[in-house]
Amino acid sequence: MSVIKIITFTTMDYNQYKRASKLPDVKTTIFTTVGNLARKHAALDLSQGFPNFKADEKLISLVNDALINGHNQYAPMQGYFSLREIISEKIASLHQRTYSPADEVTITVGATQAIFTAITAFINKGDEVIIIKPAYDCYEPAITLNGGIPVYVQLDAPDYKIDWSAFENKITDKTKMVILNTPHNPTGTVLTKSDMEELERILKPTNIILLSDEVYEHITFDGQVHESASKFPDLASRSFVCASFGKTFHVTGWKIGYCVAPAELMAEFRKVHQFAVFCVDHPVQRAMADYLKHPSHYLDLNNFYQEKRDFFLNGLKSSKFKFKPSLGTYFQLLDYTNISKEEDEDISRRIIIENGLASIPISSFNVDNRNDFMLRFCFAKKKETLEKAVEILCKL
Ligand code: PMP
Ligand code: GLN
Repeated sequence: MSVIKIITFTTMDYNQYKRASKLPDVKTTIFTTVGNLARKHAALDLSQGFPNFKADEKLISLVNDALINGHNQYAPMQGYFSLREIISEKIASLHQRTYSPADEVTITVGATQAIFTAITAFINKGDEVIIIKPAYDCYEPAITLNGGIPVYVQLDAPDYKIDWSAFENKITDKTKMVILNTPHNPTGTVLTKSDMEELERILKPTNIILLSDEVYEHITFDGQVHESASKFPDLASRSFVCASFGKTFHVTGWKIGYCVAPAELMAEFRKVHQFAVFCVDHPVQRAMADYLKHPSHYLDLNNFYQEKRDFFLNGLKSSKFKFKPSLGTYFQLLDYTNISKEEDEDISRRIIIENGLASIPISSFNVDNRNDFMLRFCFAKKKETLEKAVEILCKL
């Protein structure tokens, strides 16, 4: 029997790089950590936000057509023009603001790249960026990598309402950007018209840029209206509005989205975009341009997801969990204080291992990992998956 001996040697001092890490406190994301544990224990996965049902056959066949018709080389740097045109028309019809397809709309590798690029284009060393916590996890590392300083406004359970005077108090002469997310991941809250007007009033006398993460723009419930930053003239004049086709069309793995902003801001964004990715998947852009011609493909989403939310919450009526129905996104927070006083990371891990159901502990989105005794469940799932999840949760 031959024995293979692997000898590794290097003159590199890896520790030097570890010591000088640009992101010393960053660990593998909670989505990857929990997802891996869920797979290891074959648990039902309601943790990471992705649908477990198929995308529309029509959309798949449009991508197929684009591939077969030879759209397999680079797309324009800013994005396929017809796609930018139809995005501009969609925003004009929904929010009464016209973005020039030529200069004010850019197609990106999901909303993540739009967010990273906008931050990189504007944040310099020492610039402060206000983040409302709990917050989705991709904002802070991008700020830190660019030498910026995250400044937090921590919201409190169970309402997670923004206190605008507390927010205003965080603004200094170093504030360069504010990051907003509505509908909100992970809390499922939706900002109202008066929230947006307050924000507009506060930002008006400043040169602060607004990065408005609106990836769940088409997922609101109980008649809630999505108040896009693009609807409010002064906010729109200082905003990057970011969107995700992955979220809207059940294709998170395609990583395609876009952002819109006034031409002057977009010009700086594109300087970074062109060297970070240059352009985005061409056949998928062609397909999206055709698919968006039918507004029902996104306007029907509210009812589609409200049915899922209601089904999930009706099932949980007899459980020990406390909850406020999510008003937007496809996430529901459940308060487990009637079941346990454990840290949320511990109970999340225990339910995966002992009961076979995965969720996200929301401490990972809070300042100093504060525990709100809440777990986040993604209800973008088939009915049978939600049925099984409810059965498990009602036994806890
Ligand atoms: N923002 C929020 C609030 C999210 O939940 C996500 C996850 N989809 C993103 C941005 C990133 O979107 P994408 O997958 O299109 O990069
Ligand atoms: N947006 C998804 C969520 O909140 C996660 C995407 C990711 O894993 N980065 O669950």
